[in-house]
Amino acid sequence: MTEKLLQVNNLRVSFSTYAGEVKAVRGMSFDVFEGETLAMVGESGCGKSVTARAILRLFQHSAGRIEPGSVLRWRGRDVLAMSKRELNALRGGEIAMIFQDAMMSLDPTMTVGKQLVETVRAHGRVSRAEAIRRSMELLSLVELPDPEAQMRRYPHELSGGMRQRVMIAMALVSRPRLLIADEPTTALDVTIQAQILELLRKLQKALGMAILLITHDLGVVAGIADRVQIVYAGQILESGTARELFAAPRHPYSAALMSAVPKRTMEHRSELAILPGSPPDLRLELPGCPFAARCRYAMPVCRREMPGESLEDGHAVRCWLRHPMAPRVDLTGGAEYG
Ligand code: SF4
Repeated sequence: MTEKLLQVNNLRVSFSTYAGEVKAVRGMSFDVFEGETLAMVGESGCGKSVTARAILRLFQHSAGRIEPGSVLRWRGRDVLAMSKRELNALRGGEIAMIFQDAMMSLDPTMTVGKQLVETVRAHGRVSRAEAIRRSMELLSLVELPDPEAQMRRYPHELSGGMRQRVMIAMALVSRPRLLIADEPTTALDVTIQAQILELLRKLQKALGMAILLITHDLGVVAGIADRVQIVYAGQILESGTARELFAAPRHPYSAALMSAVPKRTMEHRSELAILPGSPPDLRLELPGCPFAARCRYAMPVCRREMPGESLEDGHAVRCWLRHPMAPRVDLTGGAEYG
């Protein structure tokens, strides 16, 4: 049976800012299972990266606050009750994380080799020679040519795609069971983006790790995700298998995101739909559906009350259109948003 690695239940995260209290994550619940790729997709500022950081409690001493009642469990253990030592063992141990900007995560004053060797040695008592051997093995694993030469290079001497491969190699030092990849390809051009995603897919298969892929681009997840959850204003509005979601999105926001993904049949980018408006101000209480102001199907009830979750064959949607008495609309194609 597949093990449930991560359990997130009713996660709420707030930030105190000069402009007021920002409720960035508003009751997210989801699980991550061994060996799967779960993609979390939504526009910038929707709370997906904050969720990733909350899993590792990475903003514990900043203005970010995980609200009481939130549940985070790693293989049954309460992450919110972990000591500093236990948390440090979890971060970069069983759970590793890579970010969008590899240049910011690597030390520009040290060679790739030195940084990798130090990371390997920080994770176990190994000799320098063994750490060098292991570092080169990792560089081969992420398909960087001539690992010995790469070890002598500084981050600025590498291309963006190569730097991201080095970051992935570093994340793999501890053989994590879960890799959180926060917009790992956003800074890269389309061809390199596809190569990095393919690499992640291969590594996942080879190492059997789970991946939580965070992205604003639904197109990125098509070939890699097993399951997808669509996030808006700190809430999950739709979740299901990638196959089902791509075949027939059931939430108007998912349909809108889908219509912004380039299709092979399109001749010009101008054919891509643009979703008008902007996400809500997360300092405000949002009593109804957070997408109501941008939704062409919004009904009076949408602005008053948040719809409950309707579960259909394991596919979960929060939209009043799923109510049996709601008007029938066809969301496939999402071409209505233009
Ligand atoms: Fe649109 Fe209403 Fe569904 Fe929200 S609940 S997505 S406003 S139809």
